[in-house]
Amino acid sequence: MSRFSIFSLARNAMSWHQNWPRQWRSPDPKPEYDVVIIGAGGHGLATAYYLAKEHGITNVAVIEKGWLGGGNTGRNTTIVRSNYLWDESGLFYENAMKLWENLSQELNYNVMFSQRGVLNLAHNLGDVRESIRRVNANNLNGIDAEWLNAEQVKEFCPIINISKDSRYPVMGATLQRRGGTARHDAVAWGYARGADDMGVDVIQNCEVQGMMIENGTVKGVRTSLGDIKAKKVAMACAGHTSVVADMAGIRLPIESHPLQALVSEPMKPVIDCVVMSNAVHVYVSQSDKGELVMGAGIDAYVGYSQRGSLHVIEDQLASAMELFPLFSRTRMMRSWGGIVDTCPDASPIVGKTPVKNLYVNAGWGTGGFKATPGAGWCYAHTIAKDEPHDLNAPFSIDRFITGALVDEHGAAGVAH
Ligand SMILES: Cc1cc2nc3c(=O)[nH]c(=O)nc-3n(C[C@H](O)[C@H](O)[C@H](O)COP(=O)(O)OP(=O)(O)OC[C@H]3O[C@@H](n4cnc5c(N)ncnc54)[C@H](O)[C@@H]3O)c2cc1C
Repeated sequence: MSRFSIFSLARNAMSWHQNWPRQWRSPDPKPEYDVVIIGAGGHGLATAYYLAKEHGITNVAVIEKGWLGGGNTGRNTTIVRSNYLWDESGLFYENAMKLWENLSQELNYNVMFSQRGVLNLAHNLGDVRESIRRVNANNLNGIDAEWLNAEQVKEFCPIINISKDSRYPVMGATLQRRGGTARHDAVAWGYARGADDMGVDVIQNCEVQGMMIENGTVKGVRTSLGDIKAKKVAMACAGHTSVVADMAGIRLPIESHPLQALVSEPMKPVIDCVVMSNAVHVYVSQSDKGELVMGAGIDAYVGYSQRGSLHVIEDQLASAMELFPLFSRTRMMRSWGGIVDTCPDASPIVGKTPVKNLYVNAGWGTGGFKATPGAGWCYAHTIAKDEPHDLNAPFSIDRFITGALVDEHGAAGVAH
């Protein structure tokens, strides 16, 4: 694999960038692998990367029914933060944050991680209490978090409207300065390139259609390109996890909902942080191309349509107008949707399943992009050792039997 550097850039510039090598291969599937990962989103690819890098397991295939990164990984609004309430989640997401902070160097691939700061607005007393509680909980876990009053919010993000006359006035916000955004495609591409370089086969346009299970142990997968045997099979298929788990006879506590986002026409830099409001249901950042990137909550109904309803967009733009009157004449350019896998406690499932050697990574709902490096790292550990890492142990399926739920509705319910 050629490394990216100022020298390789200069060398390739001399030949009009015609001679860059392919970033990963497109191999045919082998009849058998040590590990088959279903889904080449960020999570599946990161898992393959860390299996190879941290555990020396390289006889791995990542099977993708479409193109790599074409699921939620390539559709999300790229917010990265670690300010979750409970110790279990805070520590898990903070581990991911630490991996983000070195990811471009680790992968030798610019994932454009931009720690521009994330504001979570509070609009009522309930919000204020919950937010301050979360700031305190974060600080106890060594996670950076601050409480800002309305004037301080205005100072941090001057275009925000803090007028007391608005429908839900801004009463303050939590700020995580280390939070921000990253380039979602680059994350998938960087992990794919790194994993491929260590011998992992990334197989696109290959759909998993069934599981081979004998005596309660998974033996491989049936795909549109034929059967592939595997010692271990790991699901990382986000919105379609229930469908794939059903092939193994497993019913998961997951609902799949459409979640949409939209971008405006490109404009000059106006907002240099991420602003999120759970109460009025909108969040905004500005991409490097200048587009305003906006999203809201999930559509209420379940479905696999990968497009959302118009009324959600109407509501989110009305909220955006209240918070940022400046945007009132901005034209919206494009909207799209993904299918997110939501769990009843708004926390993910990462661990073993009742079928031996079959693993699950799912339930990330609206917020799994930020977890990508950490989820891949912990999932790789779980698969390699056949037991969860301390960081993901609380996120087993068993919690829905024991009742040890990790309720993150405040930090993750509609937020990202
Ligand atoms: C509009 C939107 C905005 C979002 N905003 C944010 C945000 O700001 N911050 C944040 O942290 N998170 C956000 N998320 C959530 C985040 O995108 C996801 O949680 C995360 O990307 C999940 O990654 P993944 O790799 O598990 O899933 P995916 O990228 O969806 O990968 C799963 C892959 O599995 C493949 N697959 C499914 N079934 C099969 C099969 N049978 N055979 C083979 N392959 C299969 C799919 O094609 C897909 O490529 C957002 C999501 C959406 C839709």
